[in-house]
Amino acid sequence: MKTKTPGASIRTGTGADDLRQAFLDNLVCALGRLPSHATSHDHYLALALTVRDHVMERGVKSFERGDTQQIRRVAYLSAEFLPGPHLGNHLLNLGLTGTADKALDGLGIDLDQVLAQEQEPGLGNGGLGRLASCYLDSLATVGVQSVGYGIRYEFGIFDQTIRDGWQVEVTDKWLHGGNPWEVYRPGAVQEVKFGGHTEVVTDAAGRSRVHWVPAIVVRGEAYDTPISGFDSDTCALMRLWKSEAVESFDFEAFNHGDYDRAVEQKVASENLSKVLYPNDELHRGKELRLKQQYFFTSCALQDMLRIQSLRGSPPDSFHRNWAVQLNDTHPAIAVAELMRLLVDVHALEWDAAWSVTRATLSYTNHTLLPEALERWPVDMLGGLLPRHLEIIYEINAHFLDEVRAAFPGDDERLARLSLIDESGLRYVRMANLACVGSQTVNGVAELHSELLRQTVLVDFAALWPDKFTNVTNGVTPRRFVALANPGLGKLLTKTAGKSWPGDLDKLRKIEPHTDDPRFRSEWREVKLSNKRQLAALIAERTGIEVAPESLFDVQVKRIHEYKRQHLNLLHVLTLYLRLKRDPKADIPARTFIFGGKAAPGYFLAKRIIRLATAASDLINNDRDVAGRIKVVFFPDFNVRNAQSIYPAADLSEQVSLAGMEASGTGNMKMSLNGALTIGTLDGANVEIREAVGAENFFLFGLNAGEVVALKRGGYRPRDRYDSDPLLREVIDFIGSGALGGDVDLFQPLVANLLDHDPYLLLADYRGYLNAQQRVSELWMDPEAWTRASILNTARMGRFSSDRSIRDYCQRVWNVNIKKQKK
Ligand SMILES: *Cc1c(COP(=O)(O)O)cnc(C)c1O
Repeated sequence: MKTKTPGASIRTGTGADDLRQAFLDNLVCALGRLPSHATSHDHYLALALTVRDHVMERGVKSFERGDTQQIRRVAYLSAEFLPGPHLGNHLLNLGLTGTADKALDGLGIDLDQVLAQEQEPGLGNGGLGRLASCYLDSLATVGVQSVGYGIRYEFGIFDQTIRDGWQVEVTDKWLHGGNPWEVYRPGAVQEVKFGGHTEVVTDAAGRSRVHWVPAIVVRGEAYDTPISGFDSDTCALMRLWKSEAVESFDFEAFNHGDYDRAVEQKVASENLSKVLYPNDELHRGKELRLKQQYFFTSCALQDMLRIQSLRGSPPDSFHRNWAVQLNDTHPAIAVAELMRLLVDVHALEWDAAWSVTRATLSYTNHTLLPEALERWPVDMLGGLLPRHLEIIYEINAHFLDEVRAAFPGDDERLARLSLIDESGLRYVRMANLACVGSQTVNGVAELHSELLRQTVLVDFAALWPDKFTNVTNGVTPRRFVALANPGLGKLLTKTAGKSWPGDLDKLRKIEPHTDDPRFRSEWREVKLSNKRQLAALIAERTGIEVAPESLFDVQVKRIHEYKRQHLNLLHVLTLYLRLKRDPKADIPARTFIFGGKAAPGYFLAKRIIRLATAASDLINNDRDVAGRIKVVFFPDFNVRNAQSIYPAADLSEQVSLAGMEASGTGNMKMSLNGALTIGTLDGANVEIREAVGAENFFLFGLNAGEVVALKRGGYRPRDRYDSDPLLREVIDFIGSGALGGDVDLFQPLVANLLDHDPYLLLADYRGYLNAQQRVSELWMDPEAWTRASILNTARMGRFSSDRSIRDYCQRVWNVNIKKQKK
């Protein structure tokens, strides 16, 4: 019997009539809703299911191709993903936005209202999770077969509200309205063990093998979310694991009437994937966190081995079929877990398994901050993962032999390189484990990779110089330009052709138009329109009225001392005091926009938010400065809000202390959208400045070398305070209680700056003020500003995450890119 090609039906038809019919079918047949009674949320679900059909069809076909061609697939292991709302992005990638608009319009339904219904999956803290999602987008776009493995947190990063000026955390119930994008995969279930002990047994072949007898077994259930690529027939898969109890009840306890104990185990198992830890760049050493890390890493590796066997390939060629990328050390236990699976379960010899492991794994380092480097107490790790601790010891023994051979008699080096920190309480160092078990180690910007080799990983770089490389981060121009900034997208298409979203170097084509007055005026019109939309959103969310014509000065990112939002606030308040003193001062109108979440237990970060809201209350309500400066704290910075904020930025604040920010990606998103950067020589700022031209970038501050030298020479912040009257005035003002609230409200911040100032705000204060003065001067020359703005966008092509992925394919994964054109 001849059957139709699967999917060649109305379900995946690309005309407006087909789409409308499929939408109505889903509304009625999948959701059981009468069209006349359907809510906007029903419309969203029905359209999502319709679009998912299109994406799934591509996904299935591309996966089939990968199987028949025995292609090496990329597995991206990440404890965090921050995809943002899916629907609008899929429509864009599939080229169906206009069609969907027309299809719904025929039913009297507004597409934008439908898009607004989607809850975004907040399965990450910030930059690291967003990077993972940009990479899946680019993997699909450039045509690489890939799976992103992670955790299906039931509760993601908290929603932030502001009450009385303070951050209040609200539980993120993203799954409550249903999630139309995910598909449960009963066939891919995995079991994950914890605790217990190991035994040596003799197998049928007479060989000694270690058998792990666990105390607890947990089920991992797979949920798949397809990730489409732009104008591509390859689809990436985000496979997230949910933990479940193996047995729903302990029946013995239940039969004895012990109901509490009967459900205890079930609750403990389900807790594993319950909630995302909301700490960004901070390692707390909590046992549940280690359990989460092992849980998803084990599920992922077992799943890859399962697929390996389905493809008919033996475990000893695992590395030929899979390139596994560790996104930071969160999945670094993979080194020991892959060894365990290969040796204990698949009966490979140690040396063979070690070759496979090292040829499979690669590690991306994301931080130099000591408080973010993961290490687990040996007792905790051994209690939870007894077999893994044995394996780590054995890896360490082999490794230290190698070090002794390379550096005879150098015991200090041995102690620094060891996988075990023995300087006090004993810890397993996860970055060391990741380095030893990986083929390649990379940093995420040129400066960061260089500092890695010179500082935290200096001994590894001396041992294995060729292992180290750099892959500078990138961002997807689909979500962060085409989708977030359609006005700019249209102008770019008109000027540079329609291929730029998949080939961002094409943006160079707008450069010759820089001096065309009409093009400049269109450019300004786009920016102004974005600023009007953001102003409306700001009014809706905060009640604050801001002038779209004012300079939008934007700092949105996680709140962190090293990111120095408080340096920005020192400038804001300095400007305020100057206006109070000199009402005629020639200062162009500015709107300062802050946004970002603070980790709930991060005391100073929460005070910084409070300082921003206090400045906002004071300044916005002071008639003396009315119409001159305004301050906004935009609540709940997430991907959806980011899509409204980045395109409206005139000035991008990237003011972290040099040597602290590994790369940054917010810097890329804003510059790509035509913002000028005021920033330090930190992370990717260095490369952005090189790309856009030093004259189109406001540089200030110490460089990384000067930071080290200053700290070594005994930095005394109080000397800066004593010798700089402006600085003294603004610090005294903050400490005086004049900002409202309790007199002591900001004492901890002031005391921290005067007595410690670990991020050298007072050292960089003057340079920052001067750079801000240059910003004001250029802003007062709109033609010159517009020119610099255009050049920023035109020259940012290399910061597409497509380029990053091509770099990984070449330098790290050894994967060929053969883009399958549709
Ligand atoms: C890009 C992005 C970040 C990272 O911003 P940085 O400025 O690089 O710290 C964090 N959160 C969201 C929602 C983002 O889109």
